[in-house]
Amino acid sequence: MENTKVLVVEDESSIRKFININLDRSGFSVIEAESGEEGLMKLKEYQPAVVILDVMLPGMDGFEVCRKIRDEKSDAIVIMLTAKGQDMDKIVGLELGADDYMVKPFNPLELVARIRANLRRVDKSHVQDENVIVTGKVSLDTGAQKFYKSGVDIELTPREFAIVKVFMENQGKALSRDELLNHIWGRNYFGDIKTVDVHIRRLREKIEDDPSDPKLIETVWGFGYRWRKAE
Ligand code: CA
Repeated sequence: MENTKVLVVEDESSIRKFININLDRSGFSVIEAESGEEGLMKLKEYQPAVVILDVMLPGMDGFEVCRKIRDEKSDAIVIMLTAKGQDMDKIVGLELGADDYMVKPFNPLELVARIRANLRRVDKSHVQDENVIVTGKVSLDTGAQKFYKSGVDIELTPREFAIVKVFMENQGKALSRDELLNHIWGRNYFGDIKTVDVHIRRLREKIEDDPSDPKLIETVWGFGYRWRKAE
């Protein structure tokens, strides 16, 4: 968290400096902007992890700036600074996309605590995004939609990928053809459960060393399939 870049968008220089001094003291690297327009420019230039955004700004107001930040697909954490009585629902609502807000006047230590709490939350969600399931020689990167065996990238169709994902999330558990069908094709699919067998056969040809003697996807006779747990 050291040297995490924080962009402070606030037109009142005394408040800006006050935030800057306190964040700097806590080890953040602060970038200042006096207006929304300047803030958006600096967002592009510095790619800060966090934006402290005042609602009341001359020209483009904080709401509009926040919307523009999200339009640009920036995943910066946005903490809005508001005056008492401002429209809180609008601020925390999904419509705007802000992560948090603080009502002025605020304790700078609380601002630091909020920034840290938001950074921790985002850290965790990134770990989930880049979820990589590893078992034995096989790994599945659900973020990049990639499947590797002994480090070799094996190309799977989206459906095959979905099948492997269900298996790897349920390792060692026998899954019936019906369950697999529901998981992968959805409950409203009226196809034959033989579809599952066809896909499994093709999948085995891609991922098993010897498709006639499968070690990853085992057949559970009269029921379905099971992903063998790695020892
Ligand atoms: Ca202001």
